[in-house]
Amino acid sequence: MGHWEDAYLRAFRAEVRAFCDHAVPASVRRKVETHALLEKQDIVDWQNRLQERGWLLGHWPKRYGGADWSLLQRYVFLDETANAGAPRIAPFGVNYCGPVLYTFGTKEQCDRYLPGIADSTTWWCQGYSEPGAGSDLAALSTRAVRDGDSYRVTGQKVWTTFAHWADMMFCLVRTSTHDKPQEGISFLLIDMKSPGVTVRPIVTMDLCHETNEVFLDDVVVPAENLIGIEGKGWTYAKFLLDNERISVSYFVGRVKLMLDRLNRLAETTYEAGRPCAVDPEFKRNFADMSVSVRVLESLCARQLAFTGQDEGARSVGASILKLRCTELSQKIAQAQIDLIARQGLPYRPELLTFDGESEPDAALWEAGVVRSHLIGRASTIYGGSSEIQKNVVAKALGL
Ligand SMILES: Cc1cc2nc3c(=O)[nH]c(=O)nc-3n(C[C@H](O)[C@H](O)[C@H](O)COP(=O)(O)OP(=O)(O)OC[C@H]3O[C@@H](n4cnc5c(N)ncnc54)[C@H](O)[C@@H]3O)c2cc1C
Repeated sequence: MGHWEDAYLRAFRAEVRAFCDHAVPASVRRKVETHALLEKQDIVDWQNRLQERGWLLGHWPKRYGGADWSLLQRYVFLDETANAGAPRIAPFGVNYCGPVLYTFGTKEQCDRYLPGIADSTTWWCQGYSEPGAGSDLAALSTRAVRDGDSYRVTGQKVWTTFAHWADMMFCLVRTSTHDKPQEGISFLLIDMKSPGVTVRPIVTMDLCHETNEVFLDDVVVPAENLIGIEGKGWTYAKFLLDNERISVSYFVGRVKLMLDRLNRLAETTYEAGRPCAVDPEFKRNFADMSVSVRVLESLCARQLAFTGQDEGARSVGASILKLRCTELSQKIAQAQIDLIARQGLPYRPELLTFDGESEPDAALWEAGVVRSHLIGRASTIYGGSSEIQKNVVAKALGL
C-alpha cells in the first residue's frame, strides 16, 4: 500500500484483494507466478470474471459500460491483481482499441465493436509496426487504396502480438503519400478472417510463440471500418500510444513480485554452505533494487495523481516510468539468473506448458526464471524503446 492512498483507495484495495482471493483459480495463479504459458481461455475466463464484477472496463466512462475510475484507482486495481497472480488483461481491446473507438469512432462502430470487447468474444491485435517502421512509425508503407465502398489493403505488419488468436486487427495504413509522413496515415479495423490475411509465427528467443508476422495481400476492408477521418490516423495512433505507456503501471506490481521472488531464491540457493541471501554483495545489490522499486512505486503514483497537468508533461512522465520500470525489471531478472546459474543453467521450455494443477517443482521455477529473463529483454524495445523514451525526456528538458 502506498502512503498516497486515501481512505477510499485503501477500501478499494481491500475489496480487490478479497475478490482476487477467490476469483483467481489456483491453477492460473501458479502459471502466472512461474511464467508458464497461459492459454487464451485462461485470460478470457479471468476477463469474464472481472466483467461480471464490473471491473474489466473500470477505467472506461460509465456511459460506455465503465466505472469512471481515476488513474490512481486503476493503478490500485492493477497492483492488487498483479500481486494476486492474476493474468494480465489483454490490452489490445480493453486498453487500446476500445478507448479509440469511444473517443473517435461513430455510434455504429461503438455499437458494433464495444460489446465484443466487454464480453471478450472479440480478440484484438495491434497492426502498427512493419519491417521498415518501428521507432520511426510514420515511415509505415502498408497501402490502403479506396475502391468504391471499400479499401484494398496491401503490406506487411510485424511483431504482431497474439495475431494468431485475434479476430480483429486495428491497423495503421497509408492512404496518401503526398503529404508529410504523419499526414497520410489512416486507422482501419481489419477482420482477420478476410481473404488475403496470412499470419506466420515469430518464435522469440525464449522459444515461445506470442508474436507474428501478418501479411496483407489485397485485403478488401469495408470503408465503414475507417476510424475518424481518412489521413488523420496519426492523431488516434498517438492517443493510443499514450494509453499503452500508462498501462506500464501494471508492471510495477510485477516488478515487486519479481523482487520477492529474488529474495526467496537467494534464501534457497546455497554457496559454500551458506544461503546467497547472507552474501554481502547480494545484500547490497538487493537493497539497491529494493530502494529503486520503492522509488518506482512513488514515481508511478505521482505520475498518475497529476491528471491535471498538460499533455507534454504527462507524456514525459509516462516515458520516464516506462524507462525505469522496464530497466529495473531487467536488472532483477538478471540477478535471478545470476543466482540460479550457480548450479548450471538448463532451459527446458517444454516444462512451461504446465496445467497448473499441481505445485510447481524446482525445474519449472527455473525454466520460468530463464523465460522471464529472455522475454523481458523485449520490454525495453516494445511500447517505444528505451532510446526513444530518452529522446522524449531529453527533448522536454531542451537538451
Ligand atoms: C515482443 C514484442 C512484441 C511486440 N508487439 C507488437 C504488437 O503487438 N504490435 C505492433 O505493432 N508492434 C509490436 N512490437 C514492435 C515494437 O513496437 C517495435 O519493435 C519497436 O517500436 C521498435 O521498432 P523496431 O523493432 O523496428 O526497431 P528500430 O526502430 O529499427 O530500432 C532499432 C534500434 O535503434 C534504436 N533507435 C531507433 N531510432 C532511434 C532514435 N531516433 N534515436 C536513438 N535510437 C534509436 C532503437 O532504440 C533500437 O535500439 C513488438 C515488439 C516486440 C519485441
